Amino acid sequence: MKKVVKFGGSSLASAEQFIKVGNIIRADKERSFVVPSAPGKRFSADTKVTDMLYGCYALAEEGKDFKKELEAIKARYQEIIDGLHLELSLEDEFKTIEKQFKDKAGSDYAASRGEYLNGIIMANYLGFNFIDSAEVIFFDDNGVFNAELTNEVLSDRLSKLDNAVVPGFYGAYSDGRVKTFSRGGSDVTGSIVAKAVKADVYENWTDVSGFLIADPRIIPNPEAIEVITYRELRELAYMGAGVLHEDAIFPVRQEGIPINIKNTNKPEDKGTWIVGSTCQKSKYVITGIAGKKGFCSINIEKDMMNTEIGFGRKVLQSFEENGISFEHMPSGIDTMTVFAHQDEFLHKEQKVVAGIHRLANPDSIDIESDLALIAVVGRGMKSTRGTAGRIFSALAHANVNVKMIDQGSSELNIIIGVANEDFETAIQAIYNIFVVAQL
Ligand code: ASP
Repeated sequence: MKKVVKFGGSSLASAEQFIKVGNIIRADKERSFVVPSAPGKRFSADTKVTDMLYGCYALAEEGKDFKKELEAIKARYQEIIDGLHLELSLEDEFKTIEKQFKDKAGSDYAASRGEYLNGIIMANYLGFNFIDSAEVIFFDDNGVFNAELTNEVLSDRLSKLDNAVVPGFYGAYSDGRVKTFSRGGSDVTGSIVAKAVKADVYENWTDVSGFLIADPRIIPNPEAIEVITYRELRELAYMGAGVLHEDAIFPVRQEGIPINIKNTNKPEDKGTWIVGSTCQKSKYVITGIAGKKGFCSINIEKDMMNTEIGFGRKVLQSFEENGISFEHMPSGIDTMTVFAHQDEFLHKEQKVVAGIHRLANPDSIDIESDLALIAVVGRGMKSTRGTAGRIFSALAHANVNVKMIDQGSSELNIIIGVANEDFETAIQAIYNIFVVAQL
């Protein structure tokens, strides 16, 4: 068995956290390829090293003095080195960084130093090989990740090693200039490394015991999901549930490598398994609930709409012409409704409406704002009767008015539209009926 283990910023924020990580890695010989993030927050008011680096580089770019800010970053690393009693000096590294900042090496280079330096410390602490990700992870000239070249170079390089630390978050253009993924991108690096070594599992260590059934800001202490499929995860992640960077799914999914989300502070917890497909039933009929506020609906009516071929296309053409993507589009016989993000739609509203009038000639158009969409996701819904019934009776009991219902043909999710102000109540009601009532 080969395991790739990625540790997030909060798992590596201090020497104390590093020791936990060291114990986790040493507890299992198979954990031989390690992807670290930069040190994150040690306490809630703390600043992540990545943000310190962005801030420091912004000063350098303006030609201002950045010594104090760079010293503060150095101190974060020194605290870790001292706490681990390592004989390691980052003095030369910081000299190079200072010079590169003065030469305006770019904010991507600056941010990447967070993972780079943490990788050096991690390799030294574990006695593992260190690989600079700029030598093995590549982007094309347009800044798009070059999966093929990366896999070729990285798998060749790693095949010769028993262990390695590969810092997360960055790679390089073909000319060697550093380029980062978007924020949270160390998850993506972990997935790329897992693919390159053909790992049996990609363990993603964070500070929660897995992917939660619902948002903990709405439901206190929600349970973690034990097993979720990539498709379910995608539905929930799209609707705002976040633990993992979205792009982290693709490299491992192609190879059928499962991801196990684990908690560094509670390594004994099982965490969440993210898998391609499974015959394991989820504990509850639903796997998870997620949602977002801030939508509006554009309701279009036209008598005999059902007989007019191309009506829907004409309506959507107006959205397309104005560069607005639509979220959902439930329809009736003589009505159709288009859901869009309110902040995107707002300033183009009259243009879109005029476009619909011009293109589709409807009888009326009516706009409603401040709506929320909730996705109830679960592979178990397909084989269980009455799921929708339970959701809507729970919502009725909670006095929530349902404004829209959309069930995809995959029977993997039911999307419900409610007023923004009913959002939390609705999620509570759905969680209660499927999870709390089953306990
Ligand atoms: N350190 C980077 C960030 O804060 C990347 C990561 O942690 O995954 O976004």
